[in-house]
Amino acid sequence: MNGYLSRMEEQGFEELIMIHDSSCGLKGAIAIHSTVRGPALGGTRMWAYPSEQEAIDDLMHLARGMSYKSAAADLPVGGGKGLIIGDPNRDKCKELFQSYGRYVAKLNGRFYTGKDMGVDEEDLTCMRGESDCVIGGESVGSPSPFTAYGVWKGIRACAEEVYGSPELEGKTVAVQGVGSVGEVLCRHLAGEGASLIITDIDRNKLDILREELGAKVVDPDDIYSQQCHIFAPCAAGGVVNEHTLPLLKCDIIAGAANNIYKSQDMARALAEKGILYAPDYVINAGGLIFVEMIRRGIADEEKVKTETARIEERLKELFRRAKAEKLLPGAVADIIAEEKLQLR
Ligand code: NAD
Repeated sequence: MNGYLSRMEEQGFEELIMIHDSSCGLKGAIAIHSTVRGPALGGTRMWAYPSEQEAIDDLMHLARGMSYKSAAADLPVGGGKGLIIGDPNRDKCKELFQSYGRYVAKLNGRFYTGKDMGVDEEDLTCMRGESDCVIGGESVGSPSPFTAYGVWKGIRACAEEVYGSPELEGKTVAVQGVGSVGEVLCRHLAGEGASLIITDIDRNKLDILREELGAKVVDPDDIYSQQCHIFAPCAAGGVVNEHTLPLLKCDIIAGAANNIYKSQDMARALAEKGILYAPDYVINAGGLIFVEMIRRGIADEEKVKTETARIEERLKELFRRAKAEKLLPGAVADIIAEEKLQLR
């Protein structure tokens, strides 16, 4: 646990709670980064990390990220994250999630949580039996269509910044990954008259979109070198790196994936190449907006869409400020979030 208190101090964490219940073998932690804007909100994951240190490091990184994302989206919540250490395919039992739910309950509304990697609806139901601060369940619906809606709006803001108009008719968008977000995004883009180039490691999904939307299908490795206006990564993170950067032939990178690049060097390299980057946690916040509105009991589809559509204006403002202050969009996004979190 070396250095965790210093890191909490440096990064403005409020609480790091280690949890253990020998009666069911629960080992885990809850990190509350900020409750300055409201209760901390963030999913709970179950994962067998290689070491406790890696588990807690990742937990803190994710909890802090939630604060920035919620603040960027102007939501009245802060950031947190929960972790149950274990193999989701081997170590699950009802008692484990019930016990975890009781730890969430003990936080008296300071932490709201839902599903993340390794945790499913059944697990959530066990947790919900113990705490009202567990969000989700089958009746709630998927956040992905709202994430896709927000990414589409965000892409329009990028187009306006680069081409002087948000209209996407006649623009070519290369979409990497046509899963639950990517597929819906493709439909919005095609609906506006954009041409699509798509890829996925799952070929079945591609055939449907090729037929329905007239998308050009390419192999996963070839997506980077496509001549296009916009590259929209909607699969994994880290896809813009030293290997893919020289291949890119786009003006804009804007997609749903988290951590599209992993080092700040890459942010600078993109700017030097003249590529506009839409900060991931600003553009992909639609799903979070949906979940947070469920938390407050005010999530009807139209209201969530109205709130999510504000991503377009938010990104335009961010690009204006980046230009005026001669900063990269990612740096401006962090500054705006830190101002809202009273970390500056
Ligand atoms: P998903 O699992 O439904 O879809 C991802 C798709 O990408 C799958 O079809 C998969 O086959 C494909 N894929 C994986 N690796 C690939 C590769 N190397 N090349 C091409 N295709 C590949 O996930 P999703 O919910 O659509 O999320 C997409 C991304 O957006 C993820 O990075 C996720 O973290 C992020 N995100 C999602 C949401 C949401 O609401 N679902 C919110 C914020 C961020």
